[in-house]
Amino acid sequence: MGMIHTHTCTSCGYSEQVSGGPDSGIDIGTDTYACSACQLIQDRTTWVEVRTDYGDYQGEPYIREPRIRCRKCQRKGAMKPWRSGDPCPRCGAPMPIDPKGINVLWD
Ligand SMILES: [Zn+2]
Ligand SMILES: [Zn+2]
Repeated sequence: MGMIHTHTCTSCGYSEQVSGGPDSGIDIGTDTYACSACQLIQDRTTWVEVRTDYGDYQGEPYIREPRIRCRKCQRKGAMKPWRSGDPCPRCGAPMPIDPKGINVLWD
């Protein structure tokens, strides 16, 4: 099960609801990235479980998405992993989990 936290910059106030690292639900995996072109923090899908109707299917259960694209600019090369505790991509100030923000459980 995944968990999304509200991270808010202590300086510029930029706020984003993201996992802040690798996360997964029942049949989907996500990781958190910051686009260095847009300075946008975002969760992106890293794998999706393949559901098949072949009962004895023994193959690779996951498809890994080889290239993570920014949801805004669609660039692949600008995406850098972003972890909870990393600085704000806009101003470099600390960006902690906001205790007043929403925390969402998802699966
Ligand atoms: Zn900031
Ligand atoms: Zn971008």
